[in-house]
Amino acid sequence: MRIGILALQGAFIEHAKKLSECGAESFEIRQLKDLPDSFDGLILPGGESTTMGKLLHDLELMNPIKEYIQSGMPVMGTCAGMILLAEKIYEDDTVHLGTMGITVKRNAYGRQLGSFHTTAKFDDMGELPMTFIRAPYIESVSTATPIATVDGRIVAAKENNQLALAFHPELDDSILIHQYFLGMK
Ligand code: GLN
Repeated sequence: MRIGILALQGAFIEHAKKLSECGAESFEIRQLKDLPDSFDGLILPGGESTTMGKLLHDLELMNPIKEYIQSGMPVMGTCAGMILLAEKIYEDDTVHLGTMGITVKRNAYGRQLGSFHTTAKFDDMGELPMTFIRAPYIESVSTATPIATVDGRIVAAKENNQLALAFHPELDDSILIHQYFLGMK
């Protein structure tokens, strides 16, 4: 299994470590020529979604990545990566990839709760650790299905080959969420 990790900016190295703990190979995507003919999945990491969106455009990666996702490639977007996937950003006209039926609210927890750690039930997998850093949450879903909530707010959703997480699974000890993603193949 070979997974591409978007490595323009933000938290991508930690994802590579998790994938190797799961027994999967990974490679970094920094420019168009890094996209191989075939690979098995894609991770869009956390970072700053406005910067990543701009870089995706400037590097002409936006459309090829969108096509991979639309043709069914498994993708996991964490935090800013989730914002890239969203069809709508709350009170904002920006759309990046826009492939997933979720509306996300950026920096949704305000300043005081900007970063926090908790555990919550994740799909059918029981309680898992979740680390939030200046996190968005999912304000509503259209075609996606919520699979985790924290304090009544949706923090993870799934839609066929797409998995969106408001938190950073690469920063906790557990590898269960990366295994879950690899199982989406
Ligand atoms: N606040 C960032 C954004 O809106 C996301 C934060 C993160 O990825 N940790 O893009």
